[in-house]
Amino acid sequence: MRKQIAAANWKMNLTYSEGQQLLSDILKENIGGKENHEVIFAVPFPYLAMAKEKTNGIQNYHIAAQNCSHKKSGAYTGEVSVGMLKSIDVNYCIIGHSERREYFNETNEVLAEKVNLLLEAGMTPIFCCGEPLSIREAGTQNEFVANQLKESLFHLNADDIKKVIIAYEPIWAIGTGKTATTEQAQEMHAYLRSVIAAQYGADVANEISILYGGSVKANNAKELFACADVDGGLVGGASLIATEFVEIIKALK
Ligand code: PEP
Repeated sequence: MRKQIAAANWKMNLTYSEGQQLLSDILKENIGGKENHEVIFAVPFPYLAMAKEKTNGIQNYHIAAQNCSHKKSGAYTGEVSVGMLKSIDVNYCIIGHSERREYFNETNEVLAEKVNLLLEAGMTPIFCCGEPLSIREAGTQNEFVANQLKESLFHLNADDIKKVIIAYEPIWAIGTGKTATTEQAQEMHAYLRSVIAAQYGADVANEISILYGGSVKANNAKELFACADVDGGLVGGASLIATEFVEIIKALK
């Protein structure tokens, strides 16, 4: 049974003490979840150690970085390497978020390099993909998103691609309060799974968790997560409010 995942993306929000408080408020709810449930907190780099410590020993709770360098090490001022993350036992990393693609010029090719480094280190990439509004309006979203997968992931072998978590995040739904309908989400998720199945076979495709991201809230999570091919969510704004994120975790199927 593939994993059902609630992943929080704090982005560049919260002070250190606000982050501590938010984690305490969520963790005190003690939501154990089912064996196939995972909860991931993608926190800013300076908070990783604190978040690791707070979630230490809680089964199925993990900490993620929000980005990593595509270079292994060296003279790259301001960058954080995969090896550095691994050395503090951070085992998950978001890559390819649309904000990084848009504001930091991340290309599918660079993301392929990041995927390779993360997998080599035994870490789990949370690979974001998704189309802008213009592509959705032109009706070419399927080709657009499939191409993101092909260019960044399809060089991997079957064993490795199974280790990747995919997050489909239509850009027009991120931080806009505009959520994809359950039909739009399910349609894209099923399509992406079929693209993976065409390349790697149905067994591999069925093992990969595909999260939905884009204005997931407590009041729409259950409906979205109930879709057959939606395996939870990557959550921005609502992950900053303890009561909201707790309900989102509880909405996992
Ligand atoms: C995100 O940034 O990954 C995201 C989905 O944000 P929001 O939930 O705020 O739309």
